[in-house]
Amino acid sequence: MAGLGTQRSEPPLIGCIEGGGTKWNLALARDPQVILARERVATTSPEETLGTALAFFDRGAREFGTIAAIGIGSFGPVDVRLGSPTWGRIMPTPKPGWAGADIVGPFAARFRCPVALDTDVNAAALAESLWGASKGCDSAVYVTVGTGIGGGALVGGSLVHGFRHPEMGHVSVRRHAEDRAFAGVCPFHGDCLEGLASGPAIKARWGASLSELPRDHVGHAVIASYLAQLAVMQIALFSPQRIVFGGGVLATPGLLSLIQEEARRLSAGYFGYDDLSSVIVAPGLGDDAGVLGALALGQRILV
Ligand code: ZN
Repeated sequence: MAGLGTQRSEPPLIGCIEGGGTKWNLALARDPQVILARERVATTSPEETLGTALAFFDRGAREFGTIAAIGIGSFGPVDVRLGSPTWGRIMPTPKPGWAGADIVGPFAARFRCPVALDTDVNAAALAESLWGASKGCDSAVYVTVGTGIGGGALVGGSLVHGFRHPEMGHVSVRRHAEDRAFAGVCPFHGDCLEGLASGPAIKARWGASLSELPRDHVGHAVIASYLAQLAVMQIALFSPQRIVFGGGVLATPGLLSLIQEEARRLSAGYFGYDDLSSVIVAPGLGDDAGVLGALALGQRILV
């Protein structure tokens, strides 16, 4: 046994993909502190986007060594059910060219390593629970509010998948008194939560992003009202220890505290939380929650 324990091997090299609807964040990492390379590419056609990602990992493998596993947190709808004949494929989507696209096969074929797939928001929920704002919590939700709205839930230590995967952005919300006329932008439901409170919905009705609107503009209260309703739904449905709100819209100064306050009001003291400002929180990992979630998925498949 001589020699054993005297050499520390490096953690395995993981290819990380946060595959979003507007951009893909790529990274090669061994752990959250050792991100060796990164690249951000626009989500265009599957051929072009996947091709760029394959080339990035090709270069990384030459420089840093064998890729042991790849983790993918993908935009949806995506088939994440293991054993399904369409596992790894994007499901029918209005996004041109992406319906049916296989986002796993090309990586498995090129690098001959295990590939782990989950939704981008489930990946972010996992990363935040390992290293971020919900560290140590076995029940926590991650919500992103940007081009779309989505949420991933970790309940009792397991990521929730269900039949396909949750679509938390497409719930119905009670309309704000000063937001009656806007029809909403969801191509499926009109005024579902995503149709009312996503970045494009904000731009469509007020011609600017929320952070560009004056602080006393009613838009802040309207959007906080809708997102607080989602938070209270999540409290009612999952009883999470944390609800982490990320995404571009949450970069609006003051929005998180408006959501906390409105959620407290809507909860009416019913759910047993002492202080929602410690439950509804910003990401601990900032904009890296998604890509580090992909790292976590890749690491987990090797265990
Ligand atoms: Zn919808």
